Amino acid sequence: MKLIKQITDLNKAINKENDLGFVPTMGSLHKGHEFLIKISHKLCKKTLVSIFVNPTQFNNKNDYKTYPRNLNKDLKILKRLKVDFVYLPSVNQIYRDKKLPKITLKKSQKILCAKSRKGHFEGVLDVLNRFVKLMSPKMMFMGEKDYQQFFLVRNYIQKKYATHVYSCRTIRKSSGVALSSRNSLLNKTDLKTSGLIANKLFKLKNLLYKKNKYEILSPKKLKNLIQKFKEQLVHKFDIKIEYLECRNSMTLNSSIKNKPFKLFVAYYLNNVRLIDNF
Ligand code: AMP
Repeated sequence: MKLIKQITDLNKAINKENDLGFVPTMGSLHKGHEFLIKISHKLCKKTLVSIFVNPTQFNNKNDYKTYPRNLNKDLKILKRLKVDFVYLPSVNQIYRDKKLPKITLKKSQKILCAKSRKGHFEGVLDVLNRFVKLMSPKMMFMGEKDYQQFFLVRNYIQKKYATHVYSCRTIRKSSGVALSSRNSLLNKTDLKTSGLIANKLFKLKNLLYKKNKYEILSPKKLKNLIQKFKEQLVHKFDIKIEYLECRNSMTLNSSIKNKPFKLFVAYYLNNVRLIDNF
């Protein structure tokens, strides 16, 4: 496993790799990240994992400061998984090229997390654009756990580069809660609560279909049921829900009639912001 910190070393290490799988992460690795790495190992000859807590995607300074970091443990995991390259750049290395065009989202894209986390996805797209430009990977692996992120990144990167952006299913604990680096900010009780919330939302997703399982409820019934669940969740678990919405999986717009759709949620549990989709 080769540890790389400088761009010049990165170029030397990978310039002949034309079958490279790239797994971008912010570290504090868990089985969800491990799953992306395993898929990359299957589909690409070599795998590069980056660990970079990107300051420009945090719309809150304190969130950036308190984001869980655990480099030594991460490196042990990556070694065990036989990752070929680990890229650990500094903020200065990544942002030394200031000339790249500024990325802006269209009005129609300012939904779900983009609505509440101003500048977040612009920061994500900018940093991944910088990474892909440096590495030209054959494939890049992202989790469905952050579906809106995957959706925006795939559209942006695949338009610009030959890189294929591949989505991997969400890995969960047996309680139902999606694995997330932010789970380490929760105490035991809250972690259990987030499992209960995930189960309620799996149940809600099933209830959004008519009895025949193929058709979705009418928009009015759907809205009422979601509102009812929202109130129940807030009351039962003492959480603050930022959004709980259904969106078309292919377009992320809100027209879901007879189309594949996902139920998206963002909520605060004791000041920790968690997102998931079902
Ligand atoms: P992060 O380190 O949180 O930026 O995540 C790095 C990548 O891992 C992103 O593509 C995430 O969507 C993905 N990821 C995070 N949690 C999970 C999970 N529970 N299952 C699958 N992929 C995940």
